[in-house]
Amino acid sequence: MSLEHLWAGWRREYIVEATAQERSGGISHDEADCVFCRLAASGLPSEDNLVVWRGETAFVVLNAYPYASGHVLVLPLRHVGALADLTTDESTEWWAAMQAAVAAIEAAYEPDGLNMGANLGRAAGAGIPAHLHLHVLPRWSGDTNFMTSVAETRVMPETLQLSWKRLTDAWPE
Ligand SMILES: [Zn+2]
Repeated sequence: MSLEHLWAGWRREYIVEATAQERSGGISHDEADCVFCRLAASGLPSEDNLVVWRGETAFVVLNAYPYASGHVLVLPLRHVGALADLTTDESTEWWAAMQAAVAAIEAAYEPDGLNMGANLGRAAGAGIPAHLHLHVLPRWSGDTNFMTSVAETRVMPETLQLSWKRLTDAWPE
């Protein structure tokens, strides 16, 4: 898989929502219209909001349009678009949440590797540039080739609810 393809995959995140927003008068940078802020305000982790973990300043949620099963987003609870605008506490907990997400994915899925990364700004591929979010997803050796070879076959990923259960079960204490 080329890096370009990977980034293209990440760009699909919440594309349905973004498209709907665009049709209804353009994407706003307001918190009121931010899907991540709505998730941040959706309460305790549950199968309904697909929030896997929630801390004081950061949270982890399953990507509603996963590139692979177990694909999560790690975000500050606050509506912040620039790395430099994170407080030290937010930065610290955000990074700790990333480490925990990696540990949970490794325990739940035993992948051959993981990708983690962020698209900063729309030109870099961020679907929602106004709210920082970092992707963490499991990868397997040859998974691209596998997907290509079975392109004619419908590959059914596990449900988001099952991914949620696997990751919350495997979340480090
Ligand atoms: Zn937001």
